[in-house]
Amino acid sequence: MGSGTVEAFVSVPSKIVSVSTTATTTVAGRNSVPPPSGSRRKLTRGMHMKSQATQVKPDSPASASPGNTKRVYLLNEGNKDMKMLLGGKGANLCEMAKLALPVPPAFIITTETCLEYFSEGTGNLPKALNYEAELKTLEDDTGKTFGDPKNPLLVSVRSGAPASMPGMMDTVLNLGLNDEIVQGIIDTTGNERFAYDTYRRFLNMYSDVVMDMDKEPFEEVLDRIKARKGVKLDLEMDAEDWKEVVGEFKKLNPNVPTDPREQLRGAVLAVFRSWNNDRAIRYRSYNGIPDEWGTAVSVQAMAYGNMNDGCGTGVAFSRNPSTGENKFFGEFLPNAAGEDVVAGIRTPQPLEEMAEKWPEVYSELFSYQEKLEKYYGDMQDIEFTVENGRLYMLQCRNGKRTAKAAVKIAVDMVKEGTLTETDALLRIPANQMDFFLHPTLDPKAKKTLIGEGLPASPGAATGKIVFTPDDAEAMANVGEDVILVRKETTPEDIHGMKSAQGVLTALGGMTSHAAVVARGMGRCCVSGCTAAEVNFSAKTLTLGDVVLKEHDVITIDGSTGEVYLGAVDRRSATEDVDFQTVLGWADSMRKLKVFTNADTPEQAATARGLGAQGVGLCRSEHMFFEPERISAMRAMIVSESKEERLEHLATLSKFQRKDIEEILTEMDGLPVTIRLLDPPLHEFLPHSEDEMKALADTVGKPLSVVKDRVAQLQEVNPMLGFRGCRLSVVYPEITEMQAKAVAAGAAMCKKAGRNPKAEIMVPVVSTARELRLIVPRIQKAVAEELEEAGVKVEIPIGTMMELPRACQTADDIVATEGVEFMSFGTNDLTQSVWGFSRDDAIKFIGRYSEQGLLDFDPFARVDEKGVGGLIRTALDKARAQQPDTKVGICGEHGGEPDSVQFFHSLDFDYVSCSPFRVPIARIAAGQAAASESLKKAEKLYRESITNLKRKGKKSD
Ligand code: PEP
Ligand code: MG
Repeated sequence: MGSGTVEAFVSVPSKIVSVSTTATTTVAGRNSVPPPSGSRRKLTRGMHMKSQATQVKPDSPASASPGNTKRVYLLNEGNKDMKMLLGGKGANLCEMAKLALPVPPAFIITTETCLEYFSEGTGNLPKALNYEAELKTLEDDTGKTFGDPKNPLLVSVRSGAPASMPGMMDTVLNLGLNDEIVQGIIDTTGNERFAYDTYRRFLNMYSDVVMDMDKEPFEEVLDRIKARKGVKLDLEMDAEDWKEVVGEFKKLNPNVPTDPREQLRGAVLAVFRSWNNDRAIRYRSYNGIPDEWGTAVSVQAMAYGNMNDGCGTGVAFSRNPSTGENKFFGEFLPNAAGEDVVAGIRTPQPLEEMAEKWPEVYSELFSYQEKLEKYYGDMQDIEFTVENGRLYMLQCRNGKRTAKAAVKIAVDMVKEGTLTETDALLRIPANQMDFFLHPTLDPKAKKTLIGEGLPASPGAATGKIVFTPDDAEAMANVGEDVILVRKETTPEDIHGMKSAQGVLTALGGMTSHAAVVARGMGRCCVSGCTAAEVNFSAKTLTLGDVVLKEHDVITIDGSTGEVYLGAVDRRSATEDVDFQTVLGWADSMRKLKVFTNADTPEQAATARGLGAQGVGLCRSEHMFFEPERISAMRAMIVSESKEERLEHLATLSKFQRKDIEEILTEMDGLPVTIRLLDPPLHEFLPHSEDEMKALADTVGKPLSVVKDRVAQLQEVNPMLGFRGCRLSVVYPEITEMQAKAVAAGAAMCKKAGRNPKAEIMVPVVSTARELRLIVPRIQKAVAEELEEAGVKVEIPIGTMMELPRACQTADDIVATEGVEFMSFGTNDLTQSVWGFSRDDAIKFIGRYSEQGLLDFDPFARVDEKGVGGLIRTALDKARAQQPDTKVGICGEHGGEPDSVQFFHSLDFDYVSCSPFRVPIARIAAGQAAASESLKKAEKLYRESITNLKRKGKKSD
């Protein structure tokens, strides 16, 4: 395997896939330059932050890098594989220099030094950091001297983390200026306007980034002087104007150090600090980038795009990052500095115009982008500056791209022979593939963000807000699009959820009722929007200063958790041939089967269409959410005698038999795992007076009796209460009815000539003894029903693993006669391992993540250490007892790419997830297998090199 292939693999996760932690760990592991020993420690985060003085990681050992560590690298000392140490930007600068591209001279201070800074905690640069020798090399290479007014060298000081964090950290440009040196610039360039423009930029940036001053007063000065002069653009300002601006800026901040070396120290410190600014912390947390990585700092000789009309600056992509089209694409701004492009004050020109204006520079740039794309084997994002007709390359990196572009580029690069299917698959951001399955917001549309919650169920929806499920249904019946707004949802909201385009809840996490049910339906949902105040009597929704009344229009984005005022343009999901190609690659590589969680025939059909290979979880209580069914369910729950219960069970049985037959029909020939009832009582008991009255009518009892019974059944802690198999223990007749319904459904399919593969699963098990009691009851009921039907079908029985005790005693569980498989219910397992309520954790989980106590929501992505550790224990025990036990996972983590990778690593047989996540799980499972096979190939390659070396030695 050539190094290009290895790099292709190495660079993918940290660049394109919005940084999967599992994958980026691989990056760290595969770094060809091992970090100095003992230096990858936890950071003491936020030590020098304004607003985060309390953000101290509790478990941060504070060891410093050893004294002989190399802290500063020149460009010829690094390479592209040193991202962990030099940051992505630094490593790629080194590589571009190696490829003889025109890169301004630079040196890089390592990420290790940043960690050292945090660990020393003095607020000063690490004592052992010394870059004087490298600064001298910069001076020699440029023929200029830092701090010398006669021939001054100015530098940029930029951040650069191992994974791309665009715009999250700080940069200082034009550093090395003071009153005397600005005169030197005038003398050496003869360009007074440029000198003062550069000086004002420096004063502004230094005051903001290093000295933490507000930007507004600086902007006001600029606006005032422009207004007085009657101009709008920077280009219209002359030397005198900039000189005046400089004078005013110095009045605003007279304390910018005049000593260039002191400026440099301040800027390096500011970049280190910016690793822990709020933006960066949030970005890392969203993208799973470890806090422990730190940022590198590059110090580079300035190249000027703002000297005159023969200068300019721009950004280019080797392919179109939005559509994926294989066409060099980009923008440039003549006579401007890099920050002007970002600030958007002037409209940049397309690169085609640069081709006309400076054909030679353009063709040079074109050849570099071609070279870089080939070299990196990926679409490149390039920053460049043209100084007096001379091109400088300031940055290259694998370009960020839309989901659509990612898929097209991967498929095209395979066609072009640049990538193997394995490499190409690994470049697909699995978690962005919702784009192909749901409507999405038009990224160019104007939006007013009014709130944020959890991205509970993907898609984007616009509608009039309503506050009750009945209103949702009524409005939908007359053709209105509505968004159902609730504090949290319960089963009786189902018809409203179905009728609405989207659901917004103030409470509830990623595994709350709203999230799970909406995902199942493919309905867009934002849950846990804790800032939302929902007033049902006034029918208002308040988000900050915005008060919305019933029927006001909002838009929600279930893929990001964002809530917008009014309607926002959307794009509908489209069939995409390239996406199908990628799914095909994944299917050919993956070992994990992908099942779906489906509770209705419609969901099963949708999931099968999306490639599900079976139903891993049919939550049988979800079959009773419809209004006519929920009343039978409630009647059964509040029954006061076995006879009464049996009567209502008979009604439920009718629904259940029919649904099971239909689901088995939809999934003909594929396994369908039906779980026995697990109705947390608080989700099913009636709450309001009206609901109780309705129930009293259904059961023909006085309201007071129903109220008493409901009161008796109320639980203090329903999630740990009377649910799951505990129902079977106390009311065997419920289990009997269900087992018979499953057998009857299977028998009907069999008789109709189909191939039903029903399975029965027992939920919330904590001891094998529960199974020893319940499994024989199931077997008996199934046998009776099949005998009566006169058909033979196998109906395997298994158990859910949702509680720590079940995991600890997995050997006993799989040894139970009749137990043939186990499926980890990671929603409840996460709840019970962390002791965080699935429904209530949203109230504090955000604060946990803000303070660095959680890197991600463990209900969304599996906590490999804690929950995963327990799963490993369970697997070891179970496999020691029964090596062939079929093992699956059916919690919400089954559709989350990093978690899927984890389950692959544990040799699970299948993951099961909601229907619309099936394609994502297929891709993630393919990627897990692909990355494993690459690792194996790389290991073999290394071993063969070692063997060759050994043989070579012997023959010497
Ligand atoms: C689980 O606990 O992970 C599970 C799948 O069951 P439920 O979400 O229905 O509790
Ligand atoms: Mg559960």
